[in-house]
Amino acid sequence: MGIATVNPATGETLQTFDALTDGAIARAIDAAEHTFESYRHTPLARRAQWLYAAAEILEQEKAEFGKLMTLEMGKPIGPSIAEVEKSAWVCRFYAENAEKFLAPVPIETDASRSYVMYQPLGIVLAVMPWNFPFWQVFRFAAPALMAGNVGLLKHASNVPQSALAIQDILERGGFPKGAFQTLLIGADKVAQIVADDRIKAATLTGSEPAGASLASTAGKSLKKTVLELGGSDPFVVMASADLDVAVSTAVTARMINNGQSCIAAKRFIVQEAIADAFLNALVEKYKALKIGNPLLPETQIGPLATPAILHEVHHQVEACIEAGGRVLIGGDPDDVPTKANAKLSQGNFYPPTIIVDVPPDAPIAQEEIFGPVATVFRVPDLEVAIRLANSTPFGLGASAWTQIPEEGDRLIAELEAGSVFLNGMVKSDPRLPFGGIKRSGYGRELGREGILEFVNVKTVWVK
Ligand code: NAP
Repeated sequence: MGIATVNPATGETLQTFDALTDGAIARAIDAAEHTFESYRHTPLARRAQWLYAAAEILEQEKAEFGKLMTLEMGKPIGPSIAEVEKSAWVCRFYAENAEKFLAPVPIETDASRSYVMYQPLGIVLAVMPWNFPFWQVFRFAAPALMAGNVGLLKHASNVPQSALAIQDILERGGFPKGAFQTLLIGADKVAQIVADDRIKAATLTGSEPAGASLASTAGKSLKKTVLELGGSDPFVVMASADLDVAVSTAVTARMINNGQSCIAAKRFIVQEAIADAFLNALVEKYKALKIGNPLLPETQIGPLATPAILHEVHHQVEACIEAGGRVLIGGDPDDVPTKANAKLSQGNFYPPTIIVDVPPDAPIAQEEIFGPVATVFRVPDLEVAIRLANSTPFGLGASAWTQIPEEGDRLIAELEAGSVFLNGMVKSDPRLPFGGIKRSGYGRELGREGILEFVNVKTVWVK
């Protein structure tokens, strides 16, 4: 697929773009380098003003930006607009807090004065996914720009208009030309950019293969990387949990973004004593979900972003069944209400699906399913629940439900994940560091940790 906006709800190609030539890429890197020389010396207060202005633009034009995202990747319009608002929030958060996060830290030593200070690195390349087209980029751009870096964005090929809109928003906010540039390029150009001496660091949010490829190129030229990769987050429900709240949250946590979120709950691990009640309630709630045109405010589930994702999800569902899984609801992409709608019949819709009885050691139980498919596992006790939760190669987020404090403490301590949410669903929040362990990647975004990823932590010792 080239660089294009293809409406996932209808299959219609709305706009296509030519990829930048090597010459245009070189000019963009020149511009970034030139801008960095002055931008690195701009006072933090000035950078903050520009970021506040970008937040204003996001809020004032959230309806248009929301619609753009929905047309490019299919998320329902309500969550699209909420994503624009959240992007404004992360801009304001770093505009307000960067000075505090980046303040020199005194350290007592044998010197008359010693401290660490934080300085920008230079040009940072961000390779981003389509699933949260605005949020993923702003959560990188806001801290990177506040720290004095300049950014180059290689966005996913199916969200080019969102990518261009983001550069425009930051420039309209006041950032100088060259401080943040969108490069409309395919993945094949990433390695040569990473290898360029002027690029100082790179961050990638996306799949494991893409992350490994970027990291190996960066490793050859000894460059810092941050990787935010996939997840197969567990959602552990113990018998003492508040079942009503746990079930309602389970639906939201799995269905968020049509099931295409790295931190969506993907494996539901439920204590035997309440498993039937949990499943019955979950099925009822799945039946009530409204799947359809994502531009309509009442729609809860839109299409998957591309036909390739639809095929992959269905292939994984078939593998679950092959492994012994039993479908309680969904599982058939031809059995969705949108098939009867002439306009939506070519859309990438997949029905909300629940599968039980998948053997925990089946290969499919180890994979990330990036669509509205929940696998549910029954466990006798906390020990088995923790072991099963930790049994995948991933370690992004984990949600756990219990009203017994000792169980909660064990879950917090033992779950192998970058974050644990007890009695709540895993979510990102500008105030909290976000990232994974194991094959979910390394490094952190958001919070103070996020702004410190792309800085030189300079040690100063003065006698
Ligand atoms: P993807 O194929 O890896 O694409 C992500 C980005 O990487 C796109 O810009 C893509 O460009 C580029 N890319 C692909 N192959 C590359 C390569 N070999 N070298 C350099 N860049 C490459 O990911 P996806 O399947 O679209 O996105 C879903 C994945 O992202 C899921 O696994 C999800 O869990 C993960 N994700 C993680 C987080 C997190 O914070 N941990 C957040 C969101 C999503 P093209 O579009 O041009 O191919």
